Amino acid sequence: MKTRRNFIKDCGVIAGSAGFSYLSLGYPEIPVIKGKTSGMTFRFKPYELHLKHVFTLASGSRTVTPAMLTEIEFDNVTGYGEASMPPYLGESYESVTSFLKLVDLSKFESPFFMEEILTYVDQLAPGNYAAKASVDIALHDLVGKLMKQPWYRIWGLNPEHTPNISYTIGIDKPEIVREKVREARPYKILKVKLGQGNDREMIQTVRSETDKPICVDVNQGWTDRSMALDMVSWLKEQGVVFVEQPMPKKFIDDIGWLTQNSPLPIIADESLQTVSDVKKVQGIYSGINIKLMKCGGLLSAYTMIKMARALDMKVMIGCMTETSCAVTAAAQLSPLVDWADLDGNLLIDNDVFDGLKIVDGKIMLPDRPGIGIVRK
Ligand code: MG
Repeated sequence: MKTRRNFIKDCGVIAGSAGFSYLSLGYPEIPVIKGKTSGMTFRFKPYELHLKHVFTLASGSRTVTPAMLTEIEFDNVTGYGEASMPPYLGESYESVTSFLKLVDLSKFESPFFMEEILTYVDQLAPGNYAAKASVDIALHDLVGKLMKQPWYRIWGLNPEHTPNISYTIGIDKPEIVREKVREARPYKILKVKLGQGNDREMIQTVRSETDKPICVDVNQGWTDRSMALDMVSWLKEQGVVFVEQPMPKKFIDDIGWLTQNSPLPIIADESLQTVSDVKKVQGIYSGINIKLMKCGGLLSAYTMIKMARALDMKVMIGCMTETSCAVTAAAQLSPLVDWADLDGNLLIDNDVFDGLKIVDGKIMLPDRPGIGIVRK
């Protein structure tokens, strides 16, 4: 690995200088890299996401989420990226900083060599998926901006085919749940967290306010498969459309049995991480929940969607608590999925980006190049 030339404070890497030109070949204008450039500058800085509400899952509660904001600059164009590190994923400021300090983009002549660059990033160390995602997203944003096209268009997707997004209701007291349901009025589908012993009360409380479709995320909270099947059957009667990660990921046989007998699709979340896991959950789950922070970014997420479809599985795209940066990046893929749980930016009150909009409950992709965001 080349020596890193400089650090911004204790956590930034500068590499090389720009040398990039456009050659007009008629329409569309094709950017051409001339000779060796080594022009990419990579920066990152920590950022703490402040949650609007205390967020409670089966695994615990929190009010902040650590994040890392990244930038790759080339030819005076900046691509933005982000790592979000909810504690249960095992990444932290320290681990992400250590990983990102390894990233040396000066060895690549062009940001357009995305496969090479992202393969190199992936091979720097195992795991570190949120850190890898922060490079992947920034690179996609940069390359899309250099191509002057949004990624949905580069992938050939129809922006009219974006799904409705679900709005997350965390586990809480009935009066708070009712307040959150009222807050979710603009959204057409609710995602209700279960798995802490008050499941029926949670659903009945939501139902006392609305008859909107509900999806349910148990976050591994159930441990008895017969009870799980009874609950899934009851949930179907309550207008629930699917159940995510009902049991601990190690309960493979029980989950496979539940999926076989379930009247609702059973979706894997904690049970899968990245591309190599898709085949492993086939036959055990009906579908997968893909998140950029789990899988390492847009390149892996796109590959996972294609694999899941080839295996006749449902696909959901989700997120962590994130700014509009990572959420809008994920939304670029949303015309390909069955369900989108992309509300992470709505759960924080210090978003630094403007990105996707929700219009009549549905994702509206920004008409901007790259991943579709601007700094506020
Ligand atoms: Mg989940």
